[in-house]
Amino acid sequence: MAAFALVGLVALGGCASPRAKPITGDGPAPLVTPHQAKTAWTTIGASVQGQPIRARELGTGPLRVYLIGSIHGNETQGLAGLPDLITHLHITRSATVRLIEDMNPDGTATRQRGNARGVDLNRNWPAHNFRAGSARGTRPLSEPETRAVHADLMSFAPDAVIVLHSTSSGPFVNYDGPASELADAFASAARAHDDRWGVEPSMGYPTPGSLGTLIGIDAGLPILTIEFDRPCDPDLASAVLIDGVDAAIRSLTGSRRTAEWQSALQRP
Ligand SMILES: [Zn+2]
Repeated sequence: MAAFALVGLVALGGCASPRAKPITGDGPAPLVTPHQAKTAWTTIGASVQGQPIRARELGTGPLRVYLIGSIHGNETQGLAGLPDLITHLHITRSATVRLIEDMNPDGTATRQRGNARGVDLNRNWPAHNFRAGSARGTRPLSEPETRAVHADLMSFAPDAVIVLHSTSSGPFVNYDGPASELADAFASAARAHDDRWGVEPSMGYPTPGSLGTLIGIDAGLPILTIEFDRPCDPDLASAVLIDGVDAAIRSLTGSRRTAEWQSALQRP
């Protein structure tokens, strides 16, 4: 988290420069280009308690991958690996990865699964099997966190989604939709660091209103639910994340998409 805070401070410092002058016209000069804006953290919404939910993009390639660093506040093992992922993932020409840092900052602050109202943010999506309840919300997208990320996700229009979780029965990769190859690719890259990693096609319990159901079943897009072990060494989580995401992107570029972007990959 310190690295993220530092990035934010650096960006603010640049914006606050008293020497910034308009280049043309009467309005203030743009301080960052649209591309720079995407590659720095931007706020896409706020939690129940007003904490920012932040997004940024890595790469500019044609394959579009949406990655959520944390959704359950007591499962932040993958979140610790995001700074290293940002530094080390080199997919500029093949993919654009949109990172959501943490869509449940209130839960993370108190190490609880749900948001500040006790709603499980992975049961609050407008999937066909949503079920209202005190721990799932009164209606789909009843929570500000799911509303913000749903709008951002729809606007980004991903080809695949990856969400980081953790469990004491991990580590493994669960998936929904046409993601079997993708899950195998992530798990086999992860096994180079920790040979316990495997693929679990089913969580073994119902998950009504989950993001996996919305994206994988209802929208028919590949989605991985990455279940880190709990506890998990942060350096190990970083290594698994970097190589797993890289392998998943290579798998997608090798199998699923059309000649249009495959030819784009071959551009010098
Ligand atoms: Zn979880």
